[in-house]
Amino acid sequence: MEYQFFKEVNKSFDKAASYTKHDKGILEQIKTCNSVYHFTFPLKKDDGSIETIHAWRAEHSHHKYPTKGGIRYSMLVNEDEVTALAALMSYKCAVVDVPFGGAKGGAKIDINNYSVDEIERITRRYTFELIKKNFIGPGEDVPAPDYGTGAREMAWIMDTYQAMNPNLNAEACVTGKPIHQGGIRGRTEATGRGVYFGLKEAVANLEDMKKLGLSTGLEGKTVIIQGLGNVGYYAAKNLYDDGAKIVGISEYNGGIYSAKGFDFDEVYAYWQEHKSLKGLEADQYFEQPNLVLEQECEILVPAALEKQLSESNAPRIKAKIIGEAANGPTTVAAHNIMKDRGALIIPDNYLNAGGVTVSYFEWLKNLSHVRFGRMDRKYEESSIMRLLNAVETLSGKSFDTDIISKVAIGPDEKDIVDSGLADTMIQSYNEINEIRKYHDTDLRTAAMISAIDKIAKSYEQLGIFP
Ligand code: NAD
Repeated sequence: MEYQFFKEVNKSFDKAASYTKHDKGILEQIKTCNSVYHFTFPLKKDDGSIETIHAWRAEHSHHKYPTKGGIRYSMLVNEDEVTALAALMSYKCAVVDVPFGGAKGGAKIDINNYSVDEIERITRRYTFELIKKNFIGPGEDVPAPDYGTGAREMAWIMDTYQAMNPNLNAEACVTGKPIHQGGIRGRTEATGRGVYFGLKEAVANLEDMKKLGLSTGLEGKTVIIQGLGNVGYYAAKNLYDDGAKIVGISEYNGGIYSAKGFDFDEVYAYWQEHKSLKGLEADQYFEQPNLVLEQECEILVPAALEKQLSESNAPRIKAKIIGEAANGPTTVAAHNIMKDRGALIIPDNYLNAGGVTVSYFEWLKNLSHVRFGRMDRKYEESSIMRLLNAVETLSGKSFDTDIISKVAIGPDEKDIVDSGLADTMIQSYNEINEIRKYHDTDLRTAAMISAIDKIAKSYEQLGIFP
């Protein structure tokens, strides 16, 4: 039977909704997808032939404007997938208090079959079709990169939109842009760094760690990571730099395990050079990468693909904490198996929200037309200097110039983005963890309850429902 992604999302929704007391009509309104646009357009290929491209944009929830979500280029894109992913975006944004509705879009293409010029033509025409139907705009719907697209495509989208709408805020029509075209520092690493902040907060909770038989803190915690792409690399690098022990790494073509832990920087440099983990010093090399996930560790971070933890391998997963960095890495059956043996599963609808959080900051930057830190960095530096001078006067001693240069630093854009990201991930974790305890449920359901409550409240405040 064909996998029905949107139905699966709605199953989790229904489970979480049963813990709430919202009106049935409101729940139905939240669950339903507000608009789906399926469109086709012709592509003139470099050889002169014409091909029809199928594309979609789904705006799941208009409880807040704009809606927000990535654009995928993949042969697997279809209406069910974009609708389900748009719904997940609505819930994810609500969990981390990013004031957007959820959206998702895509074109059914294999990017390997097209030249760069052809991909540019597809992207610009895709944008043009969205403009025609009001499915894009700083206050309507703001796309971002997803599978198969990146900063380059976002720049083409912005350029096309700006050409058709040459107004002051046009730059805010899309996020994930290159820095010199309105992008923001810290966006590339945001999702992986958000995963790190989320895990750090989870292991700081004494009561939760006691239940798992673990000490608090990241220091010495053993970690297995699946995928060394954008999310996996930054998640692992941040965990490693904060004292965690990376004991297992898997990539699509093989994996490695070492109980004493790897020098992660060395492993990553090797991976980048050879595009293989074979040949690195390890206790064990696995031809079958997914076997790495079943090895001994405290934290398992799937950061590659969906449906990696399923009924078939979940009984052999030993990790006490599963940090879902990827979207949908765990099937419902696997979730239940791991939960029943007491694992703490930190769900994707919270843990990988760092990307959309920093996209929100990019949108704010575009609308304010000023780089974060530009107005107050120097002012903060001189405030710190005034304080240091006062201490020197009172104590009669002078600070070393080395100390002054380390302390008297005002925050730049990267620092401010990082601080906003950390605060978001920490606050949201504690919020969903409280809900989990209150309802005696799991974090996935708790995150969904949090999202439903917030979206329901905003519909109620809009006065649409009594
Ligand atoms: P990516 O393409 O940069 O990285 C994925 C990595 O996984 C690649 O290195 C790939 O070789 C590896 N991989 C593929 N099959 C594998 C296998 N069987 N075993 C081990 N590794 C395998 O993608 P990404 O941006 O890092 O995204 C990873 C996941 O995170 C996806 O589920 C994505 O939807 C989700 N996500 C990404 C972002 C973001 O900002 N990039 C935000 C939210 C969620």
